[in-house]
Amino acid sequence: MDRLRAADIEALIALCRAEIDLHGEALSELDSAIGDGDHGANMRRGLEAVFAEREAIAALPLPAALERIGVVLVMNIGGAAGPLYGTLMMELGRGLTLEPDTAEFAATLEQAIAAVARRGRAGPGDKTLLDVLYPVQAEVLRRAAPHRIAACARSAAQSTQAMQARRGRASYLGARSIGHEDPGASSCALLTATICGYFEEHVAS
Ligand code: ADP
Ligand code: MG
Repeated sequence: MDRLRAADIEALIALCRAEIDLHGEALSELDSAIGDGDHGANMRRGLEAVFAEREAIAALPLPAALERIGVVLVMNIGGAAGPLYGTLMMELGRGLTLEPDTAEFAATLEQAIAAVARRGRAGPGDKTLLDVLYPVQAEVLRRAAPHRIAACARSAAQSTQAMQARRGRASYLGARSIGHEDPGASSCALLTATICGYFEEHVAS
């Protein structure tokens, strides 16, 4: 992984914010089906707050930038997703060195995902954003090309349709949660695909 420069961090923040803004209604519709309909608004609020701070964040070294993004997400997304996305980014920031290679990134991502799982008391197959994160981490570990990782994230989010929710609000629906894509998995796939698209185009691996 080439060193991410401030311009890359700022561009990635802008792209993620634009993607979440574009899909905000769709994310809230997914959440209306099996939750309380606020996931798009929650994610928009979080990404807007990160976007507002993008210059200061991009000026930080990568680990500190990721940690700061995590803090801003926790403070602004709210709901169940805020602490989970926040934990992911804060743990990535705490674990990474200044110029991580792919092996280090994969190992740190695994640790960060484990922290998300502990925080949510959730695991594979519970129909949450973890059902995207686990397969994405596996693809990173096997050094898959960014477009492959993005495709894996999309299909992993779709796979949550068949699952029965065991965590979060959707779990209150029991078997009626089956047949709908999980909103957190969906936002996680959107963000993963956005980040991978940028890496495919701009960052050598
Ligand atoms: P809320 O459920 O508080 O309204 P959001 O709608 O923003 O929060 O986020 C819902 C998403 O958060 C779910 O689709 C799921 O992916 C994720 N989620 C909820 N609870 C948990 C949990 N305990 N562990 C992991 N992920 C969870
Ligand atoms: Mg919700």
